[in-house]
Amino acid sequence: MLVSQKNNKLSLKCPLCHATQVISYSTNYKLFRHMDFSNIAHKLVLAECEHCQLIFNLLNDNILATSNLLFKSENYSESKQTQQTLLVSEFKHPVTRSFLQAEAISKILNKEKINILDIGCFDASLLQALDKKLKPALLCGFDVNPRLSLHFPNKNHYKFYSNNLSDIQGQFDLICLSHSLMYIQDLAQLMRQLKYKLSKNGLVFIQTPDINKNKLSILLGDQFYYFSQINLVNIFKYFGFKTQVIKNPWFPREVIITATVANKKPKQNIYSHQLPELLDNIDHTVNKLRQYHQHTNLYVLGTTLNAAFVDSILEHTIRCFIDENKHKLGTIFRNKKVKHPSELKSDDLLIIPYAKSSDKIKKEFEKKYQLQYLCV
Ligand SMILES: [Zn+2]
Repeated sequence: MLVSQKNNKLSLKCPLCHATQVISYSTNYKLFRHMDFSNIAHKLVLAECEHCQLIFNLLNDNILATSNLLFKSENYSESKQTQQTLLVSEFKHPVTRSFLQAEAISKILNKEKINILDIGCFDASLLQALDKKLKPALLCGFDVNPRLSLHFPNKNHYKFYSNNLSDIQGQFDLICLSHSLMYIQDLAQLMRQLKYKLSKNGLVFIQTPDINKNKLSILLGDQFYYFSQINLVNIFKYFGFKTQVIKNPWFPREVIITATVANKKPKQNIYSHQLPELLDNIDHTVNKLRQYHQHTNLYVLGTTLNAAFVDSILEHTIRCFIDENKHKLGTIFRNKKVKHPSELKSDDLLIIPYAKSSDKIKKEFEKKYQLQYLCV
């Protein structure tokens, strides 16, 4: 039974290009906030603009306003958003996302003494990684949470801003937007600021989750917008930027593009609907999971969005979360304990909810743990 619905609201306008060719969709899935993946809403309402291809959240303004207040809270500034590490074959030890981003950026732009601005800088971890890699002259960070200044390096060539982007003085050779574009409501204003603040031949580096690579990221209800390679490229073209897609195996679920100011307005892509297929795909996963409603020994692998999604569908049927990361063991996620897979018994069923990556994870787990597995 599909739960997605296509609505046609003629009164709806795209917040970016103001076109009225907008189609909205609603489903009864729960939505999550990205800080801790707790539920923030019981219904998803999204719209897709047929003109500029923007996908935007139609959630009640109060919920969005509350979520945005959270970004300014002390809880958020202390939430260690940048400390998660990952292991990639090129480096012996686990490294942070910021470290890998600085490596990737240095391959695109390898100049010394440049000025860098990071919009949504959090604790300056990306700026510090770029400082080590590129030896820039100036590193500016902007974040809506003023408390993050406490985490900011106390050095002369670092500057922290928190009120308005327009307060930032000077021009920049590199402007980074890493996992921040979808939280900025006024995209038109942002684009104007980017053009104003870029030096001649300056480059914008944008990295966001890709809804086509992890479909469940559409369930992050605290975002204003949702991007894939298709609409991200198109939106920057719409504002007169030349774009280049950066393929990077270190970030398999994300899209990375760079943008520079174009001399003449680039031609936009042909429109392609993204939401219908994407929502159908989630419906399919929901229906598959619901078949396990009566199961008694169910566990879920992971402690992020995909695990939260399974928990929201099967609720009390899920006994606890499973993670190999020793920092997660013994912690509580969505009011349930996090345990190590070695604590499970051979008739326990472990759900691996990572779509295309699930089979690979299952193969690795089968070598170490004798369990039942369900890949979704
Ligand atoms: Zn539009």
